[in-house]
Amino acid sequence: MTPLTNFHAHTTFDDGTESCEAMVEAAISKGCAAFGISGHAPMGFPTRWCMTRENEPVFIEEMRRLKEKYAGQIVLFPGVERDFYSPGTVYSYDYVIGSVHYIKKDGALLSVDDTEKVQTEDVRRYFGGDVYAYTRAYYETVADVVQKTSPDFIGHFDLVTKFNEGGKHFDETDPRYLRPALEALAAITEKQKLFEINTGAMYRAGRTVPYPSPVLLKALCERGGEIILSSDSHDGASIGYKFGAAAELARSCGFTYAMTLTDKGFVGYKL
Ligand SMILES: [Zn+2]
Ligand SMILES: [Zn+2]
Repeated sequence: MTPLTNFHAHTTFDDGTESCEAMVEAAISKGCAAFGISGHAPMGFPTRWCMTRENEPVFIEEMRRLKEKYAGQIVLFPGVERDFYSPGTVYSYDYVIGSVHYIKKDGALLSVDDTEKVQTEDVRRYFGGDVYAYTRAYYETVADVVQKTSPDFIGHFDLVTKFNEGGKHFDETDPRYLRPALEALAAITEKQKLFEINTGAMYRAGRTVPYPSPVLLKALCERGGEIILSSDSHDGASIGYKFGAAAELARSCGFTYAMTLTDKGFVGYKL
């Protein structure tokens, strides 16, 4: 049987809407065997979506408390989602998700996943309207995410497609999009094989497929990559959202097993 586990989740310590304990109770009620909360690491400048440096040890301590309180019901892990441009952390987490949320251009950090309006305006203002130059800049950053974040797995590999449902802004089969994406995939899998299949934007942004897209998932499988199912949950209701469909998609792309985190590290289970 496929175990329900999720290690990509946010709380009121960063940009989630519920406390750690409420998220843990939601995970238990859904039948999660193991659950991790991955607070956004501080960016080194004020943000409304990251933990603060002061809050990091409070978060870790709260997760330790919950781990003891709910022992026997669920296995808990304090994790961190580290952005490419996050300066890193002095605290010790059980695991790290490596993610890119920004493109750096002309000295500015451009948020890739803020809103569709912001993304469209940045393409116009910083890339002369060339959306493929924008997506290439994103994947050039992604290609180095392992060196920058030392992750246990890669977060939302093709986040740049967040607002591109139905090919609204660019053609995901166009080589100008696909080539840099595949090059980034190749660079990453030299160093880190484990990528999440992330259903978060299916729940929150009306997307019909998870990250990465089927084309990229197939390429990942061909490169010997591995997957872990994530719901990138910002509320309890979304934990495990569409995992059945994500597993089915993974199987159709050639994957025969997925990974999950245990007290003994990452282990595989049959899909
Ligand atoms: Zn993220
Ligand atoms: Zn996240």
